Amino acid sequence: ADASSRYTAANPKSLAQHRAASEVMPGGNTRSVLFSAPFPITLTAAQGCRVTSLDGRCYVDFLGEYTAGLYGHSNPVLCQAVSKALEGGWVMGGHIRAEEELARLICERFPSIELVRFANSGTEANLYAISAAKAITAKPKVVVFEGGYHGGVFTFAGGGPGPLTAPFDFVLAPYNDIDGTRALLDTHADAIGTIVVEPMQGSGGCIPAERGFLQTLRDWASAHGALLIFDEVMTSRLSPGGLQQVHGITPDLTTLGKYIGGGFSFGAFGGRAELMRRFDPSQPGAFGHAGTFNNNVFTMAAGAAGLREVYTPAAVGPFNARGDALRKRLDAIAGGARFPMQFTGLGSMMNVHMHRGPVRSIHDVAHSVQPLRELFYFHMLEHGIWLARRGMINLSLPLGEAEFAQLEDAVASFVEHCNALA
Ligand code: PLP
Repeated sequence: ADASSRYTAANPKSLAQHRAASEVMPGGNTRSVLFSAPFPITLTAAQGCRVTSLDGRCYVDFLGEYTAGLYGHSNPVLCQAVSKALEGGWVMGGHIRAEEELARLICERFPSIELVRFANSGTEANLYAISAAKAITAKPKVVVFEGGYHGGVFTFAGGGPGPLTAPFDFVLAPYNDIDGTRALLDTHADAIGTIVVEPMQGSGGCIPAERGFLQTLRDWASAHGALLIFDEVMTSRLSPGGLQQVHGITPDLTTLGKYIGGGFSFGAFGGRAELMRRFDPSQPGAFGHAGTFNNNVFTMAAGAAGLREVYTPAAVGPFNARGDALRKRLDAIAGGARFPMQFTGLGSMMNVHMHRGPVRSIHDVAHSVQPLRELFYFHMLEHGIWLARRGMINLSLPLGEAEFAQLEDAVASFVEHCNALA
């Protein structure tokens, strides 16, 4: 309660802005995830790895726009690419060459993606990938996992699909549970044509899938004529070829999004040529795939420049290795807490959990200590750290050792503060 009232006192302009915004938008914004009680802070500007609020505070950005902000703010290479695009016109209504360039970069980087198509968001990419898999297999059921997130209408946290879940016939299976999942798959074997999985649950709390679990899904799908979709919207950053490359497991289709569009609206779905050719409009009976902004020039230009010049395959390893090292240091600090606390994740993505013991599924953290998690969020803000309310941290390229040290100091002071209360 103290932290919350200090927050309100420190952010009067954001409170006024939230009230004004609530007159025209439910909850005062258009992204549920950006609402947080008592009101969200309004941001006015960003540069490099820092964001500034309407109340004049500066924060180190450890949210990284839920992984879309990998390049940091106003990366000069991306700025140049977008400025050039701006001068050349931006709603042309035709194929543009940057579209091919981005597609080629993606196909080169992710070997399982022989052909690719673009969309405006990760949600849309999943919508098309799942719809295509259903149509190709002619089987109605789609397997998803507890704690999974594939976009707003594909949310499987908590007890299962929410009230606005997209109208697919979902089978909700237990994540990282080979026997439980296999039993469900076998029960519905004739009706299951699609399996969608995040190789590390991102929104669910940076919970990596175990290799054996993913291999079970691969083997079952192959044996039963189902299609396996890896949702790598977040995890594609974790190695040059995504987590599928780390595990050596090849999905039939992959969905992408976030940073691959250079920080602009983006989604993509791709996979085996034989499957993706169903979208070739020159073929009889081709699947329709539309979207006015699928090839918008800003996304195409920024995305291509980013993969070509900034987040090159050679940059991927060192960036994520720095993340692994940071997570281990943070986890060591958490180890000094006299209350349950740990950091999970892989590479440049991590999440704090107020929980002791293994974290293999959302059930492990469902009962983590909520007030501590809230206090952690407010404490981080007071120490100039911008991160997700749920405790997610995503690194961006401009973050350096000085910013890492600031985060470590903030976490250490949180531990000290709560130890004194305990
Ligand atoms: N899939 C995963 C794994 C995600 O984490 C997200 C977004 O956080 C999405 C899909 C949806 O992407 P978008 O927000 O671009 O619609």
